[in-house]
This record gives sequence, C-alpha cells and structure tokens, in this order.
Amino acid sequence: MQGQLRTARLPKVSKDFFATLDDDYIISERLYNCLKEEKVKLGELNRILNYRNIELPFYHLYSTLTLPPATKKEGLTVEGQCSECKRNGYFNTAIFAPSGSNVPTKILPYDLHYQPFDMDIFSLADFAFTWECMGLSNLKAHGNFVVRYARPLLVVSEKFKSILEKLKIKGLEFEQIIID
Ligand SMILES: [Zn+2]
Repeated sequence: MQGQLRTARLPKVSKDFFATLDDDYIISERLYNCLKEEKVKLGELNRILNYRNIELPFYHLYSTLTLPPATKKEGLTVEGQCSECKRNGYFNTAIFAPSGSNVPTKILPYDLHYQPFDMDIFSLADFAFTWECMGLSNLKAHGNFVVRYARPLLVVSEKFKSILEKLKIKGLEFEQIIID
C-alpha cells in the first residue's frame, strides 16, 4: 500500500533498515543518502511523517514494481490462502524453541524459482516486490485482530545487496531468487 506512513515513535529507532509491525520497510535518511551516493536506484520514496506532519529522518522503501508470480516456491508454508488469486497466505516455515528456552526461533530458508523474466524491471529501481504476499489480510478489525495487509517480500539487486553488506546494515537475511 502506498501512502504516507505516519508514526509517533520512529525517532527513537536507531536502526538503518527495519520493518514496521505491518511489514512496511523503512530506511534511515543516513542509509538513503548512502544508497543515493552509490547510485542505487530507489525511485521516488516518501519521507515518514509523524502525527504532526513533521518529516522524520526516515523513508518508506516502497515500489510499484512487482515480479511475476514465482513458478515454484520451496520452503514456504501455505495457510488460509485466497482460493481465487492465490497471492496471499505464504508463511516462513519457523521452528519454535521450547518455551522458556533461550534458543531463538529459527526461520528456515526458502527458494523462489522464476521463469526467465525481463530484467529491465531493475533498470527502473534496484528493488522490487514479489507477487506473492506473506501472511493474511485482515480487512476489518474485530476482537484482537487489527487491520493488516498481506505483504510481499522485498527483492533487491546484487548491487543494492552488496552496498547493504558494505555498510554492515544489521538484521537482514538474503535468499537468492532462482531463475530456472
Ligand atoms: Zn484473492
């Protein structure tokens, strides 16, 4: 969903790259400037505003570029998927540690396979989103359920990835997409 994200709490966040509870990706102004300097194509990104409409030093990493549907999705769990479009309902396969233990939850790797597609998509921006969306949408708040949308995975170019690694941006894990 494009639109201006608003938040009251972001200024206290010191990380350069993170996802909101809704899985919107946010990058810091510092990272934004580094990426621009390295000529990573970002398209037009919106600044994050707080509730008083004041711009915060963060950008919403968003693109309308969407990859074609993956032809094979290995290692993702499917649950509660919309039977019409089959776009949502993908979940990471996670192994939960026994409660009370210090072992972190382990997210298993997955593979997205694609038929060869037009790589010109990356001439417009160094990132795009998957057609497939993770999780389920909940369009009406009820009980403990808040409104949320199933969100796609972020796919970045090799160049984008190498700069994130060079800048030692923490908390990111990469899976290579596979062109069959
Ligand atoms: Zn649907």
